[in-house]
Amino acid sequence: MDKRTTMSRQCLSCGHHEMLRNEDYQEHLQFNGESEVLIGLSSWFFPICGDGELDPESSAQLAVAHDELVHRARARQLHQ
Ligand SMILES: [Zn+2]
Repeated sequence: MDKRTTMSRQCLSCGHHEMLRNEDYQEHLQFNGESEVLIGLSSWFFPICGDGELDPESSAQLAVAHDELVHRARARQLHQ
């Protein structure tokens, strides 16, 4: 499969004209002492300033993980 690794788009912050593909993006989540690391997220980003955005699937995955983290933190507090 021929996947694109660059995409033409201009950055509003740095003016760079090309986004790069990152399919091994890591996001560190923290909430009230609970933490979680998500790996293998897919995103596009600008190499100059680091601005970027996650793919919709990865973004949804991140939202779910964050919700679970919040639930876990609340459950832990209830049982203390
Ligand atoms: Zn930029």
